[in-house]
Amino acid sequence: MKLQVDHLTATPKEYRHSLSAAQWRSLSGADQDEELEAQEDFAFQLRAHVASDDILIEGKIDGTVGAECSRCLERYRCALHDDFRLVLEPAHDRRPQDPEGEESLSKHGLWLGEDLESGWYRGRVIDLDAYLAEVIALAMPVQPVCREDCEGLCPHCGARRSEQRCECEENLKPKSPFAALAALQGDSEGSS
Ligand SMILES: [Zn+2]
Ligand SMILES: [Zn+2]
Repeated sequence: MKLQVDHLTATPKEYRHSLSAAQWRSLSGADQDEELEAQEDFAFQLRAHVASDDILIEGKIDGTVGAECSRCLERYRCALHDDFRLVLEPAHDRRPQDPEGEESLSKHGLWLGEDLESGWYRGRVIDLDAYLAEVIALAMPVQPVCREDCEGLCPHCGARRSEQRCECEENLKPKSPFAALAALQGDSEGSS
């Protein structure tokens, strides 16, 4: 998505943009999580305006990825919703310390700070695609769960608890607290 700096005013302008899964893959490169698989387009709604010399961009992302539930290991469709905000100052003659940042500023008119909430711009056109790819990465769940109440797998036999009841918990539980105590006492008597 290319933002024309000359078109921006103090009144927020609205934009819609989408990135396909393939575009996102090529933008985000090799460091993509295999377990979170993008197949559909990511949709962005943005508002951009100018405040003194700074450019303020606010927006939200909606999308869907295929994810693996961290509890039951089932694959499911995980909805992504996130808000983002970016403040860009004019770079003027400043240069980013790193060669990558310098290249991004001259090629895309944009250099992003570490926090991804601020950065510099240069020139009349700001290419936001690399930034939007970062927004997608940040919206990805760290520990995906298929349902809030997913019961996961039985740690003993591996049964998926939402589909199948196993006897493991029942069998491991001592019959009663007194029975467990009696068993312990029996052990200590036997060893002395
Ligand atoms: Zn699950
Ligand atoms: Zn079990």
